[in-house]
Amino acid sequence: MSKINVLDKHIAELIAAGEVVERPASVIKELVENSIDAGATAITVEIKNGGITYMRVTDNGSGIARDDVAAAFLRHATSKVHSQDDLESISTLGFRGEALASIAAVARVELLTATQGELAGTRYEIDGGVEQDCEDAGCAQGTTFVVRDLFYNTPARMKFLKKDVVEANAIAAVMDRLALSHPEISVRFIRDSRETLNSPGDGKLKSAVYAVFGKEFTAGLIPTEYEWNGVKLWGFISKPSAARPNRSMQHFFINGRYIKSRTAMVALEEAFKGSLMVGKVPACVLHMGISFQAVDVNVHPSKIEVRFINEKPVFDAVYHGVKTALHSGDVPSVMAFQK
Ligand code: ADP
Ligand code: MG
Repeated sequence: MSKINVLDKHIAELIAAGEVVERPASVIKELVENSIDAGATAITVEIKNGGITYMRVTDNGSGIARDDVAAAFLRHATSKVHSQDDLESISTLGFRGEALASIAAVARVELLTATQGELAGTRYEIDGGVEQDCEDAGCAQGTTFVVRDLFYNTPARMKFLKKDVVEANAIAAVMDRLALSHPEISVRFIRDSRETLNSPGDGKLKSAVYAVFGKEFTAGLIPTEYEWNGVKLWGFISKPSAARPNRSMQHFFINGRYIKSRTAMVALEEAFKGSLMVGKVPACVLHMGISFQAVDVNVHPSKIEVRFINEKPVFDAVYHGVKTALHSGDVPSVMAFQK
């Protein structure tokens, strides 16, 4: 008897879903990225119980046409990539066509959506990957996803969820990064009926930083703007006097995408060498702009890691940009403030 067995479609679907949907925060990340890709200028997220029983994402983006609604939930179904060439320079956050299929496989999903010019919007329901309902609905242009009972059909995954407050905090971090990565989008976050974030969407990074981190943090920042070898750098670094005990306040974004980059972190800290007291590290909210061809985002579904085709220009831009900002004149050196 042969030992090799091809997994049935349902099991294969659940395994694939697990790659994308690890916890409530991964659902929110995927849904808000879709909202950004749809051109939304306002995104509201509401959650209950750490998102485990209820998550709602509402945007005012393009909406999904009735004829595309069911297809949007199929694995590898995307409106963002059409050819191999498109893969070489991805300008959208999504491109795998996996998120909606994955979320729908492991939760109960309700979708309300309308495009411009359609006579009626659509209400669609899909539970555990099985379509329940599709009907006309009156709604404004844009899209609302309601995701209920995450992992209701995969008890093993459910067991790995942390306490509500821990899951809610992970979602809050996703929302913070959303506001910081897209200051032109107004971002609201409602957590167990309490609004904890409301960024104005006025296009100014400083307004977003203020909304996310508050007055004191914002007051301790130095603006940074630089360009080097095709890498644009803009945002804020902390004044040396406002440095922190750990790296939790170092935020890097590349082409509007939150990333973890060792290269950028090392460049930042090298540039601060000699300006900080022992044991302190700088904080930052730094955006980098680089041609879409120069970065490979196709590393992992969660896409927080990116690969630069060439790390050197990124290092140099951050290093020189930060040095320049630090020495822009209005900053006392470490000697001055130690006295
Ligand atoms: P991807 O983002 O990789 O294309 P998804 O599974 O996340 O894959 O979404 C599938 C498709 O559904 C998208 O390509 C897009 O056409 C559509 N879609 C999803 N969310 C939205 C939204 N909020 N507004 C408009 N279209 C959406
Ligand atoms: Mg997507």
